[in-house]
This record gives sequence, structure tokens and C-alpha cells, in this order.
Amino acid sequence: MSTRRTVLSLSAAAAVAATAAPGAAQASGTRPRKPDAQLRAILKEIDPKRIEATVRRLAAFGTRHTLSSQTDPARGIGAARDWIFEQLQGYAARSAGRMTVELQSFVQPVSPRIPAPTTITNVIATLRGSRTPERIYVVTGHYDSRASDVMDAVSDAPGADDDASGVAVIMELARVLATREPEATLVFAAVAGEEQGLYGSDHMAQVLKDAGADVQGMFSNDIVGTGDAHDGTRPDNRTVRLFVEGVPTSETPAQANTRRSVGGENDGPSRQLGRFVKDVEPEGADVRVVWRRDRYRRGSDHISFLLRGYPAGRFTEPRENFAHEHQDVRVEDGVQYGDLVEFCDFGYIARVARVNAATLWSLAQAPGTPRGVVIDTTRLTNETTLRWQPGTEPDLAGYEVVWRETTAPDWQHVVRAGNVSEVTIDLSKDNVFFGVRAVDTDGNRSPAAAPQPS
Ligand SMILES: [Zn+2]
Repeated sequence: MSTRRTVLSLSAAAAVAATAAPGAAQASGTRPRKPDAQLRAILKEIDPKRIEATVRRLAAFGTRHTLSSQTDPARGIGAARDWIFEQLQGYAARSAGRMTVELQSFVQPVSPRIPAPTTITNVIATLRGSRTPERIYVVTGHYDSRASDVMDAVSDAPGADDDASGVAVIMELARVLATREPEATLVFAAVAGEEQGLYGSDHMAQVLKDAGADVQGMFSNDIVGTGDAHDGTRPDNRTVRLFVEGVPTSETPAQANTRRSVGGENDGPSRQLGRFVKDVEPEGADVRVVWRRDRYRRGSDHISFLLRGYPAGRFTEPRENFAHEHQDVRVEDGVQYGDLVEFCDFGYIARVARVNAATLWSLAQAPGTPRGVVIDTTRLTNETTLRWQPGTEPDLAGYEVVWRETTAPDWQHVVRAGNVSEVTIDLSKDNVFFGVRAVDTDGNRSPAAAPQPS
């Protein structure tokens, strides 16, 4: 395929924008996208009552500690595993064969917080994409739980917020989306071994990596149970935090050299994913994007994906109450400790599920993130030439170039480049940051990709 090129001057850019349809490319600024009819129906179907039932059922297994019983039918992680598997299979039964459910088991050898070889099982539902099934988006919650002592596999550890809430999110998404036909593949996973050291997600991410899977986005939902800190501070029931790193965990020394030279610490693929989430957040929810990989001294399953070069982020509630996390259930000085169902707000969890649904659906319906985007640095000029690999989506309409001042947090300008794979624009690459995103015939836009020097 020959390279298709275009040259854009700023006056030409203005002309393009002036004739564009409402909601299409704007000459300056970008604005949030409205959900289409299908997404509105999906958001409406997300049911706080079902989420509540899931959280209550998971808490009722007593403990879901990774080292707890795998054979007791009523108590322990094995019973929880089997219940999640059955539920997901029930949803898959309504998917006309598009959704498959698997138990992904492996033996974790002796390692920190794993005193004897232990079978760890992820429960994974995969909804195959209708148009570009090789393009994958992953969403997880972890179904293991813990008490005060991370090695205590016996005491009650209801883990309602951490992380039955996240598992309830991914299960509700699987239920609602099973009957739909997203263009890309969506993977809903309840992972285990998180509290012992992210072992379940580490295995899952490695299996995907070994298979050469094209995971273009991953989200961990971990501690998404309430907007109320129960500590006297004002509830913040519309806000969910999204932690997204800037400098990639997987950055190579060569990439680090480039970054030190010309910047880009705010343009890693996960940061672009964060901008995308903010762009599609549904009404009634406020995604507070935090430019960090995670909180101080904390982590979650997104790190397993970041380590393998996959863009990823972590959703979590706006403010935590540490008396309700990683604590034995007890009353001390009149204070109730423990991760109990009574501290969860199911309307809040449903809101987080809607943020996830809007994100996943919008990602799946849009074209994939442009690949191989480079900025031509062979000659010193006051123009900018960008090149990329043409996408293969059947409904691909073309590309947009976005840019912003180097001091600005988010994209400020966008111009349509047409269905080309090279564009020259009369703006100096030294003065602004660029990104390229793909657009389909319905106006769905991919996350932006920042160019690497040629
Ligand atoms: Zn957790």
C-alpha cells in the first residue's frame, strides 16, 4: 500500500473544521462525547440491586483468602471461584456463543506471602469482538480478600469493598454486555492472589503477552465500594479516581533518553487512555484522573499489565477509610473495624460500573489506537511531519491530529487529516505536543498515540 500524504496549513485546518458536521472535528478544543443510543441502553441496564447481591454473596464466603480452602463448598476461595464461574457461564449462555468462560489455573511456587506451592485460579469471561476480535480490552476485579495479617487464611475476611466491589463491577459488565456485539474483544476477569502479590493478574498478563495478544487497554477496579469515607469528611459519591502513570513502567533506556531530550513524560499510552476515559465519562459521574501509577505504598493488578507494556489504569474510590480495609472484623473503643458489606454504597458501585461500561464500549466501537506513529526528525524545519501505519478496521474513516501547548495538560486543538498515513502541518514540532487518533465512519475516536522520533 502506498503512503497517502496530506499537507495541512492552519488556514486549511480552519476551513476543514468550518465545514465539519456538528460533533465532528473542531478547529480548536476537544469536547466530551455524548453516548450513542446503544451505550445509553447499556448504562441504563446496569443494576445496583444485582451489584448488591453479588457483593453480599461474595462476602458470605467468610474468607476468600488465596491460601484458604479450595474444596470447602461453603467457605473459602474455592467456593467463591466456583460461584463466580457459574454466574459468568449463565451470562455467557445469553451471548449466542460470543462469550466464553474459563478457569485459568496455575501453581504459584513458594514466593513472598505464598508459603507452599498454591493453585491460583482466575475466572475469565471473554466476549469476542464482531469486527476486530484480535484487538482486546481487559477489565479486572480481584476476588481474593485478606484480614489484618496477610498470611491469615482462617479469620473472617469479608472483603466487601476490597474487592467484592470490583468483582461486582466486572460481573455486571459481563452480564449487560453479553447480549451485545462490541467490535473489539472485551475480557472480564475476576483474578486472585492480588493481596499476596498480584500473582493472578501477573499470570494472566504473561499468558496474553506470550500469545502476542494486542491488549490496547486494561483497567483494574480495586476498592470501588463507596464515595463515603465514613470518617466525618463529606461524601463524594460521584467521584471515582483513575490512577494512570505518565512515564511507562516498561520504558526502555532508549525511550528514556528521548524523553529526557524532548519531554513526553505526560504522554505515555496509559496517560492517553486516561484522557480517553475522561472524554467519554457518563453523566452523573466524575472521573478524577490522578497522574500517578497508584497511591503511596499501594498497587493493584494494572501493574501486572504495565510491566508488560500494556496501557493500563486503576479505578478506586475517592477517599479511603483504612479502618475498613485489610482489617480483622472487630469493635475497638466503640469503632467497627473490617471490610463489611454495610459500608458499601451499591448506587456508587453502579456508577463506577457505568464509567467502565462507557469506557469499554467506546474503546471497542472506535478504531484501535494508531500504531507506529513517528514524527519526522530527519531534517530541521519549522513544520511537522507525522507518519503512522494505516489501520485495517473496515469502518475506518481517517485520522485526526491533536496538539497542545507543552505546558497544557490536555489536548487543545484537533484537525482532520483524512484517510492518509502521513501529514505535514505548518506548526513547529519544537513548540507543541502532538498526538494522532483514528476515527470511524460513525465518528468514534480512538485514544491518541504520541509520536516517537523517526
Ligand atoms: Zn484490593
